[in-house]
Amino acid sequence: MSGTQAATHRVIDDVGTQALADAHWQLDEAIAFLGYGQGTHAMLKSSRRELTVSIPLRRDDGTVEVFSGYRIQHNISRGPAKGGLRYSPTVNVAEVRALAMWMTWKCALLDVPYGGAKGGVAIDPRLYSAAELERVTRRYTTEILPMIGPQHDIPAPDIGTDENVMAWMMDTYSVSHGHTVPGVVTGKPLSLGGSLGRSSATSRGVVHVALAALRSIGVDPVRSTAVVQGFGKVGRDAARFLDQVGVAVVAVSDQYGAVFKQSGINVEALGRHVDAAGTVVGFPGAEALDGAVALELDVDLLVPAAVEGVIHADKAHRIQARIVVEGANGPTTREADRILANAGVLVVPDILANAGGVIVSYFEWVQSNQAYRWSLDEVESRLAERMRSGWEDVTGFASLHGLTLRAAATALAVKRVTEAHRLRGLYP
Ligand code: NAD
Repeated sequence: MSGTQAATHRVIDDVGTQALADAHWQLDEAIAFLGYGQGTHAMLKSSRRELTVSIPLRRDDGTVEVFSGYRIQHNISRGPAKGGLRYSPTVNVAEVRALAMWMTWKCALLDVPYGGAKGGVAIDPRLYSAAELERVTRRYTTEILPMIGPQHDIPAPDIGTDENVMAWMMDTYSVSHGHTVPGVVTGKPLSLGGSLGRSSATSRGVVHVALAALRSIGVDPVRSTAVVQGFGKVGRDAARFLDQVGVAVVAVSDQYGAVFKQSGINVEALGRHVDAAGTVVGFPGAEALDGAVALELDVDLLVPAAVEGVIHADKAHRIQARIVVEGANGPTTREADRILANAGVLVVPDILANAGGVIVSYFEWVQSNQAYRWSLDEVESRLAERMRSGWEDVTGFASLHGLTLRAAATALAVKRVTEAHRLRGLYP
């Protein structure tokens, strides 16, 4: 193996560093395909703004702990920055940079008028009370106030955060401005200006493209089988919607383990079990299974909807699914991507597959700014239309140029962002 190959094959232990390396490599590939110059490449590779903050928390027992937090805007050429807020002990600056870059491509690909951003706090939310999480959220929001705003940067939920966190952020921002500003976050509770259909939008979008992908390889969804990794905000409803349309969801995993049933798991019943037990493990309607093995089952569809880097080079050789639809951001490493492509596995990339969340976040922002509410039907039919056109754009571009869906999606997005740069010109 040459030195270059050895570098390419080196294993990166830190998930965030791996994610950023993968994001850079995807950009490199798109720039080479599009024939853009070094200046454009350098601009698109760097974040526009990065803020690192310390967040001191007075715990319920009176002791003080300090957490690191980040807000990174990758690009704002097409509109305000948009991206989720993650609470996870492994959050670091590299991971947030990668996730912010992917948000830029996702918004451009689905033609949502936003740039890309992401936020994170290195905290395990399961270890803290609701009152402590509220104090962390309010302090983090206060520290990043100079960056956020309905015309600047609009956070949303991601791993470890939810509509309560968004309500606290919205309140903190609004109090500091002296009036209520619902458009500063999306993924809010309905009673505070959230959108109907937002909480399940990412999962709906995942299922729209999963069904299109199954049909594209001639598989009838009602005769198909699926595995879903992750049973949180994205995985849970993705499994539920797949079950509803007749796909047999044979295994579901979370960070504690997995459950398996060859004829298909009753996902509603699994949801009730998880509400009570906090994990899929122990669900009486299915057999116990090792979480790592769940990814390797011989099914039509695999939906990783948990964290980055779970399909890595060692795992990719063992994937038997015919289609991978990336509910999570960055679940497939660059090496694994190449292995899956060579094996003929159709990978629907994250920036297309999980874009339903940002699409309905955009709808929520439009409704918040207009103080007007759309019906659920209106939200869902507009979402379906945008996912359909995203799918057609990406598959059309891929077949025209002989690219994988990921390479096509990234190239299309990079092209749109570069067009915005070109039209706006370089200041000064
Ligand atoms: P969440 O915190 O609600 O749920 C995460 C789930 O993944 C949990 O069930 C957890 O137990 C499980 N998990 C964690 N590590 C795991 C592992 N190693 N193996 C198996 N399961 C594991 O988070 P979420 O909002 O559902 O986000 C999941 C992914 O989807 C993330 O990559 C996120 O960036 C992406 N995403 C989320 C949204 C959204 O609207 N929430 C939108 C687009 C993309």
